[in-house]
Amino acid sequence: MAFLAYAAYALVLTSACLYLFWHGRFLKTPLNNTNIALVIAHPDDEVMFFGPTLAELTRPEYNNQVRVLCLSSGNHDGLGDVRKKELVNSLKTFGLRENHLTILDREDLKDGPKEMWDLSLVGDQMNLFAKKHAIETLITFDERGVSGHTNHIACFLGLSYFVRTFKDRTTVKYCYVLKTVSLLRKYISILDLPATMLFTEALLPLVSQITGVGAAASLIGAENSITNPGRGGSGGSNRRVLRPKDLLFVSPIPAVVQAKAAMQKHESQMVWFRKIYVVASRYMAINELRRVM
Ligand SMILES: [Zn+2]
Repeated sequence: MAFLAYAAYALVLTSACLYLFWHGRFLKTPLNNTNIALVIAHPDDEVMFFGPTLAELTRPEYNNQVRVLCLSSGNHDGLGDVRKKELVNSLKTFGLRENHLTILDREDLKDGPKEMWDLSLVGDQMNLFAKKHAIETLITFDERGVSGHTNHIACFLGLSYFVRTFKDRTTVKYCYVLKTVSLLRKYISILDLPATMLFTEALLPLVSQITGVGAAASLIGAENSITNPGRGGSGGSNRRVLRPKDLLFVSPIPAVVQAKAAMQKHESQMVWFRKIYVVASRYMAINELRRVM
């Protein structure tokens, strides 16, 4: 009964939310004109979990340089070479070329739920990659790794090591992690949007603008750009500008189609439960990123 009530509530509210997101684009990303690294553990993570993020950040009008660092070849079932090619093709769907991608294929970073990766090694690899490509924004999994996979969690722990060790001598200014939600919320696709909006800090500027409490950075345009802090601003230089700690990406239909097309490139992975995942997973349509640095 409670579930039905939520479903009805979610349907109505989701429609309203989607209208706002797709027609108003009021949550235009503040990440523009910047070099971004997405760090993933396996080929297919980029679309199964980060599809909305990739679709948004690679939009040409933002002028971002998006690169992907994949820490393993996904060779758990001996399909490493196939999966590397699939990742290249998947990224093409987002307009990224092969030279935007680095896949590490190392003995000490093997794909597998029982493979414990050395966190300093992961952090060091992030640092080398950031240095090589003058990365300013780094994005990876959070401490629960969305699916709980050991290698996903190692990405987060590696990031923690990276922040602790290299914070003062890196080009990276911002680190974001992809928020893990509960199992129920994970599999209700876009119907999770109302719950997401309820709990996210990403809407802080919107709430602030509507209520007049606090001074929020403008929601649209360069004033909200964290790469250009101080430029413009909504209330003059003496007012404190709120910048949300979270980023929220909600894919419009073309971006969902784009992510599904990218997922199709991972042919070797398209077993029945992943086909269900593509339809039901919230991560194919909604990404919420939490800033950790
Ligand atoms: Zn993975």
